Amino acid sequence: MTIQTEHRLTPAPPPGEYIDSPRFQIGAKKGLANTQQRANLKHATTTIRNKRARVVAELDNWQDLRTAGEQIKTRVGRHLDEYLVQFEENFTKAGGHVHWARDADEANRIIIGLIAATGESEVVKVKSMVTQEIDMNEALEEAGIAAWETDLAELIVQLGHDRPSHIVVPALHRNRAEVREIFLEEMGLYGTPAPEGLDDAPVNLAGAARTHLREKFMRAKVSTSGANFAIAETGSLVVVESEGNGRMCLTLPQTLISVVGIEKILPTFDDFEVFMQLLPRSSTGERMNPYTSVWTGPSPEGDGPQNVHVVLVDNGRTNVLSDPIGRAALRCIRCSACLNICPVYERVGGHAYGSVYPGPIGAILNPQLRGTDSVIDRSLPYASSLCGACNEVCPVRIPISDLLVHERHKVVEAKKADPPHIPHTLEPQLIGVAAWVMDDYRHLALAGRGSALGSAVLGKMLGVQGFGAIPGPLSRWTSARDVPMLPEQSFRQWWKKNRGDQQ
Ligand code: SF4
Repeated sequence: MTIQTEHRLTPAPPPGEYIDSPRFQIGAKKGLANTQQRANLKHATTTIRNKRARVVAELDNWQDLRTAGEQIKTRVGRHLDEYLVQFEENFTKAGGHVHWARDADEANRIIIGLIAATGESEVVKVKSMVTQEIDMNEALEEAGIAAWETDLAELIVQLGHDRPSHIVVPALHRNRAEVREIFLEEMGLYGTPAPEGLDDAPVNLAGAARTHLREKFMRAKVSTSGANFAIAETGSLVVVESEGNGRMCLTLPQTLISVVGIEKILPTFDDFEVFMQLLPRSSTGERMNPYTSVWTGPSPEGDGPQNVHVVLVDNGRTNVLSDPIGRAALRCIRCSACLNICPVYERVGGHAYGSVYPGPIGAILNPQLRGTDSVIDRSLPYASSLCGACNEVCPVRIPISDLLVHERHKVVEAKKADPPHIPHTLEPQLIGVAAWVMDDYRHLALAGRGSALGSAVLGKMLGVQGFGAIPGPLSRWTSARDVPMLPEQSFRQWWKKNRGDQQ
């Protein structure tokens, strides 16, 4: 389990970048073969989605809340430029500093500069999707700054030299025995070791994490966070969490640097009320999350951060916004309900998606944020059975299956427009033949007669009723399917012969 950590400040993640992941179908096969992970995922997702269903059923106005969430977020998308400027004005007025980052490199440069200005060489972190998206931990490591995860699941992932596999519960793919092993092997290398004789009881594992993290909380002068929401009318940031580690990071250090995607804006504090009902229920199946932190500039009493920054990150979001259909994905509040209900995610796990955004939302968001140049991003829109279960649970009514089809269309168009980068396939030629056949009823009749004749002759010669695996480009499709011989007579021919007198 132990990976070489020499010369590093923090545990090394697995080698390679997310974007270098193989296409989804290959990652999915690896996930399917991992029976322990499948068992862990099935147990965890079943528990969470049952809890969610119970608490959602308690609310008579759940559908109205979903519609309200959808409409607020749609309005944010339409007026994002105005709300962002309003947020900047109010955050600055409250004594905070606003920085704008076009992409991951720019965001990391700003963050490193801000930490360097404090003279510190370590930060504690609240769990944050956007800092994972920009690979902040690794950028800080290269700059000689140690970033310590403080969320329990993120700590397990970091100490396990692993990657998150779920939006809300990043170590969902690990069970208690695995967590115990990670803690015993790794904690002592990076701070307070796990107690001797640690067993895998959840309370004892949580206790070991608490002791390990306390030393880091007490020492840290700088923290980084994300934000679930940024409220334009007041210039406030909001973090919603379950463990209290976020509260420690947001109140103890002198400098707080929040890294926030530009789509996180809510226009008013009243809008926040809607999301405080939608998010905890959809996410962890709770009526209310245990900790909600709201801050507007530095702490006025001097008993919290005095140096408060926010880095507003685009990193592809304005590209998403420019697509009138695809922009619906920006409504996402990262609740993970679509992951927990998805039969594909439940079986293959999050690593197959090659991104910090796995599951149905990852399948529509990644190809929009990162483009479709990589094999992983071209494959993601196909990482779904289109069963539509995700549409039903999404608290902001993102029509995920419609967006999957929309993204598939864009992948096909990109293949046509940029053939040198795409491995040669027969798909465009087959579609050309199909277009010719469908173009005219005489072509259809001719194709039917030709295929039936060819099929009959071949069947007689080979003495078979159907084909098994066919070599060449159709080999993978036919390895699990029989291709029947075409009937000698088409439906049109049958109709003409038997019912030719009817219209
Ligand atoms: S797409 Fe909807 S269900 Fe999925 S994480 Fe985002 S808000 Fe939640």
